[in-house]
Amino acid sequence: MRRHRLLALSVTLAALAIVVLGVPGCRSAPSPPTPARGRRDATEAVGRTATATWSAEIRRLLGFGLPIYCGGPRGNEVAFTFDDGPGVYTHFALKKLARANERATFFVVGRSVDDWPGYLTRELKLGAVEDHTYTHVALISLPPSQITYQLRATAQKIQADTGEHVQLWRPPYELHNPTVDRIAQQLGLLDVLWDDDSQDSIGANYAQIIKNVEAGLRPGAIIEMHENRGQTIRALTTLLPALQQRHLRSVSVPQLLASDPPSPEQVRKGLAGCKNEGEVSGRPSTVSWSSSVVTSSGASSPAMRRGSVRERTMSSKRAATAAVRARIFDRVAT
Ligand SMILES: [Zn+2]
Repeated sequence: MRRHRLLALSVTLAALAIVVLGVPGCRSAPSPPTPARGRRDATEAVGRTATATWSAEIRRLLGFGLPIYCGGPRGNEVAFTFDDGPGVYTHFALKKLARANERATFFVVGRSVDDWPGYLTRELKLGAVEDHTYTHVALISLPPSQITYQLRATAQKIQADTGEHVQLWRPPYELHNPTVDRIAQQLGLLDVLWDDDSQDSIGANYAQIIKNVEAGLRPGAIIEMHENRGQTIRALTTLLPALQQRHLRSVSVPQLLASDPPSPEQVRKGLAGCKNEGEVSGRPSTVSWSSSVVTSSGASSPAMRRGSVRERTMSSKRAATAAVRARIFDRVAT
């Protein structure tokens, strides 16, 4: 255990050196932090009333049996989401978010929680902590009992650590199928995906991350990022002030879904209901994940073929990204 903690300490110091000193090819002088705006209203405190309102809306959306890709377009809120933590860079993400007075949602991996004691509580103070499975496995490759374990054990760990009931989850590699969806729904977990992809998990550097995220920044956007990547933390230095410049603010996903939920039509349309994807790619989002995308983009992958057929509409850009993620999984799994 002592050796493990020493290892964690040395990794943290290494990460600190990268963030403070910079990495080759990166900008070396981060902008000063954005001052707090003081615009947070009372509902953002995680009090009982606010939590109950958020829970009711999440239960309503759970009834659709479909993933959520974005919120509604009527407000000025977006939701930054960070997957795969807690980890070595979490401290830096939290620090930047706190300085900018922004909120986020953290989809955490159950088995990492014990390695970073106290981190979930810190994350909860800045938004919400939700379920990203116990070992970051592609659930489509598991029998139902193991799917249940992966989701339930993580939710229980989060609840034991924070006292908060877990209501949301996100599938690793975006891989899910009707069996996975049914089990998650039975556990009361709403599948939250995204409509604005930083592409940090497939190798985007900080400049590309900024470009990718800014292209999709609009009211209701759910932004996909990872808290275990130095390039992502670096990109936050630019992205957090960019929110302010666009008169947007980041809230937790539960708050976004409560204050400006997607309409039933948006939910039924899936990603196409968020509009953003088609606007960004310059073409309508009408390609089918289950057939033409996989073959037309040359993106065939065992994981994708076993995956969701619920992604009825997906732009070629998102399909290509999903294919890379699936291929990464195939490499890991074989
Ligand atoms: Zn992940």
